[in-house]
Amino acid sequence: MPRWAATSEETPVRTVVKRPSEAKAERWLALFHERLRERGLKSTGQRDDIARVFFETRRHISAEELYAEVKKINPHVGYATIYRTLRLLKECELLHERHFDETQARYEVADEPHHDHFICERCGKIIEFENRDLERTQRQVARELGATLSRRRVELYGLCSDCKRSPQ
Ligand SMILES: [Zn+2]
Ligand SMILES: [Zn+2]
Repeated sequence: MPRWAATSEETPVRTVVKRPSEAKAERWLALFHERLRERGLKSTGQRDDIARVFFETRRHISAEELYAEVKKINPHVGYATIYRTLRLLKECELLHERHFDETQARYEVADEPHHDHFICERCGKIIEFENRDLERTQRQVARELGATLSRRRVELYGLCSDCKRSPQ
């Protein structure tokens, strides 16, 4: 197949798959320590345990899920400390707080590149994707409004391909 043909078949939607790696988690933890120092705060054993689990864990974790994971390595950590640490991580700009179609917030590591989310309304799966056209359109809308974009959020809801295939 000629190259141009292959390119034209390419879908502009790219799903983002990021696997947690320990080395990466350590780098994020070091960054957390740096930002805490900038704010005149100290890292504590409990904060570190929570932050490490957060950085290592799968994405879009809820506070309750994080609490359950942290409990496995440090049973002394309380729920309030989980919340405070999540707030601190947010202040340090190391996490994004997401409010998908539900009451509880979900958290993910604030790394680049920017991505959007598809949320399956049946199984709850969250699929991350990037779409340049979508981003371009949003910038264009802002331009036409004479506005400047500071942040953007796109959430798509529906049935994922697995759920679509299998009847309930
Ligand atoms: Zn699904
Ligand atoms: Zn995400």
